[in-house]
Amino acid sequence: MKIQSFKEIISDYDTILLDSYGVLKNYHGIISGAEESLRNIRSLNKRYRILTNDASSSQEKLSAKFARGDITIKPHRIITSGLMAQRFLSSKQIIGKVLYLGTDDSADFIVRAGHKKISVTEFSDDAYEDVGCVVFLDDEGFDMNTAINKVVNLLRKRAIPVIVANSDLIYPVASNDVSIATGALARLVESIVGRKFIYYGKPDIQMFLYAYEDLRKDDPDLHKSKILMVGDTLHTDILGATKFGIDTVLVLSGNTSKVDADWMIKSTGISPDYICESIVS
Ligand SMILES: [Mg+2]
Repeated sequence: MKIQSFKEIISDYDTILLDSYGVLKNYHGIISGAEESLRNIRSLNKRYRILTNDASSSQEKLSAKFARGDITIKPHRIITSGLMAQRFLSSKQIIGKVLYLGTDDSADFIVRAGHKKISVTEFSDDAYEDVGCVVFLDDEGFDMNTAINKVVNLLRKRAIPVIVANSDLIYPVASNDVSIATGALARLVESIVGRKFIYYGKPDIQMFLYAYEDLRKDDPDLHKSKILMVGDTLHTDILGATKFGIDTVLVLSGNTSKVDADWMIKSTGISPDYICESIVS
């Protein structure tokens, strides 16, 4: 396993796409030196976007969170799986309310898509006729057990679409511990009701396509060979970017540790073009 310097690798690329959790921040907060690395990307006149499986809040609120950690990232540069779900919802006609699992902040996506929302907590079982769609947004903001039972019973009565705005199964909460993420809850319900849900987030390529189209507004000649994806997770960041057809760098500052990287790459067959300790290397 050859570990290279991030600063050297990026010299061959015009555009850098970065995952957020495990790349710019971790459970402690912003990774030390991340702001400096972004500043370096900017000073080299490279474009960049953040591509994150996150439906917890809007681009503006995520930008404000970065700002609190002293990282400046304009809202339009933060592309989230929540935004992809919002775009899908805004193109759909939904009769009735959108029932959501998540925080009040996460429900912004439903309102922005032009639909009426109802939280799973507010929802009472006899009002199932009022619901036209279910969206899994975030793992917080509700009691898991009650919510799952409500949604299972609703979906037994109604053949309505179910959107999963973040397909992640787990997220790290400490150096060795994880918590269940939205995608895991959705898969549980999906297996119980025997239906197919619609998932948003890497490794699907929607966010890569959106970023590419957005970047080509400024630079119509931008070629995929000039774009580099930076991520800490093989089966989301690296697999998604590889499917999209761009080069990848795996950083060892998040989900994939130095000890595990080699055998994980061999056993999954998901192989990054480069490996770096972090974006601060
Ligand atoms: Mg990550």
